[in-house]
This record gives sequence, C-alpha cells and structure tokens, in this order.
Amino acid sequence: MTRPRGGRHYPRSVGEFQAWFRTDADCLDYLEWVRWPHGFVCPVCGLSSSWRLGDGRIMCAACGHRTSVTAGTIFDRTRTPLTVWFTACWLFTTAKDGVSALSLQRALEIGSYQTAWAMLGRLRSVLVRPGRDRLAGTVEVDETYIGGDEPGLRGGRARGKKVLTGIAVEVTEPKGIGRCRMALLADGSSASLHPFVTGHVEPGATVITDAWMGYHGLAGLGYAHQRRSQRAARARGDDPGELLPAVHRVASLAKRWLLSTHQGSVEEAHLQSYLDEFVFRFNRRRSASRGLVFYRVLELAAGHGPVRYHNIVAGKRPRTISPAPPAARGHPPSLQRPPAERPWRATDLDYSG
Ligand SMILES: [Zn+2]
Repeated sequence: MTRPRGGRHYPRSVGEFQAWFRTDADCLDYLEWVRWPHGFVCPVCGLSSSWRLGDGRIMCAACGHRTSVTAGTIFDRTRTPLTVWFTACWLFTTAKDGVSALSLQRALEIGSYQTAWAMLGRLRSVLVRPGRDRLAGTVEVDETYIGGDEPGLRGGRARGKKVLTGIAVEVTEPKGIGRCRMALLADGSSASLHPFVTGHVEPGATVITDAWMGYHGLAGLGYAHQRRSQRAARARGDDPGELLPAVHRVASLAKRWLLSTHQGSVEEAHLQSYLDEFVFRFNRRRSASRGLVFYRVLELAAGHGPVRYHNIVAGKRPRTISPAPPAARGHPPSLQRPPAERPWRATDLDYSG
C-alpha cells in the first residue's frame, strides 16, 4: 500500500466509521490489518507463517511464540472494549479541538473519569513519532509561559504553575504559518534553548529570535540567525510585541485551547503531552480528511509499545472532577450494540405525568 485511500483504508465520514466498526471483532480485525498490512510478522523471530489459536491469539509457526494483535501496543491488556477505543480515537482525531476526559467519559458511558483520562493519555503518548522531521526553511523561535493561572480569569479556573515553553514555528511568505513544535524548558538559558533549537529545527534553516542572550551562539550551530531587537522595533514605531508574530499566534492558540477544551486543568507533569496533542492537531489542520488522521493515530498506536497507567499519571493521579467519582477505575461497556428494534414503537407515551 503506497498511500491509504479514503473509503477503503480509512473511513471518510462518521457514517462510514459506524458502518465499518459495528463490533469489537471488526475493530480487532482493522487493528490487525493496520499493524500487519502484509500479514502477521512474528515480533520475536521476524518470520510470517502463523496459526490462529482458538482464543483468537496468533502462534508463530516457526518459533512457537504466542501473541495477540493488541500485545505490545498501547492496547496491551486493555479491559476497555475496542469499540470504545475506536470511538474515543475517532472523537480525538475528528473533533476540531479534540475532546476532554469529562466529555469522553459522558459520551461513551465510561464508568470513571480516570479511565477516560487514561485513554486520552495513551492516545497522546503515541503522537510524537521517533525520528520525525525537524522544522526547516525560516523558523521563528521564542519562549513563553504556558499553563497555570491566567490573569483576568475569575474564579481561579486554571490552577498550577506556569511553565516556560519553547515554541518554534515555520513561517512562509508573506504571512503564512507552517508546522510548529513546542517543548517545556528548564529555563531561558542557552543551555536550555540551544538543545531546543537543535532538536526541533534542521541545521541550515534561518532561525529568527528576539535579542535575548540565551539565543547567542545559534550561528555557530549551523543556523542563519536573525535577531530582532525590541529597541529597534520601538525606534521604527513598530509594535515590539509583534516581533515574532507566528510564535505569538501559535502560543495564543495553544493557551486558548488549554483553557477551552481542558478548562485549564492541566498539571505541570502532563503539560508536555497536551502540547504534543496541540502540535499534532495544529500540524494537520489542513489535512483534507480527518479519517486519514484517525488511521494515522491508530497506526502510531499499533506501532507503539505498551503504556502503563502509572507512566501516564507520572506520579500524580488525575484530579477527580467526575460528578459522582467511583471508588475504582471502571471499565466501560462495549459500544457493540444489538439492533434496538425501534423502541419508540414499543410503548405509548404516557401523557399523564
Ligand atoms: Zn516467531
């Protein structure tokens, strides 16, 4: 398969999504196809002849290794039915601003907020593909504080600490914006900023920054470095706050997204994974098909090692904001449904009440 096609390799619409993935078995088969498009490949010996065992697992005919489609992926040992996983992934990839754990919990009747939250955490954890391309061409780089209390927001909706975040954005003539990258920084020193630039921008690119001394030395790292000074902007009568318009635009979109979809309730320990989600969605904002993005996330998920609950929580349990928090993590019912036989015809409406 050179290039996945809509309607054949990925669903083009919610109607097609619902028609394709009616049962957990449909989802399992799709996941198997995504993981091994040319047939099973043994993860131990690399050979491809296999037996299907009675319990649905696969046994390598060469070395006897037994495995399943979900083993070794983020769906490893999941007790959440795949219909629920697929619907969560569909919402995650097709909703313009993504989905919060609370609305996912409500939409899919997931028993606990923690389960919904951990599902989104697992989806977020696969989005950064190892070895992805760095930004190229002309790139604005700046650092800004993200997260924590937003001044002017009443009621203290956003708790926690602001975290210094590096932002790099490709700019195209005359005023276009290409891809972006965001990463938390320890501080604004060159010891933090230089690795941020080298990790996210191809050598040879033109890097535009303000005059902050933390960016001194970028030319020595193989970049054409343009520094824009606030003082010079003021002298020209330009708005010094608009020295780096592309990074400021992306930073304000990211901040607005954290405050709207997630009500600002993001802990510092999890902020990077939320930024990864923002960057993933931003960089695919012009993708013609959301179904293709759905396929890409499942492809990343099937190629990603297992992610355990404690890895996502990062030492801290998610804040319970469910209306009626259950004591334990609940496991949602499958979204596999028998035909409902037109229940609205079965009984008369009772008008007496
Ligand atoms: Zn084998």
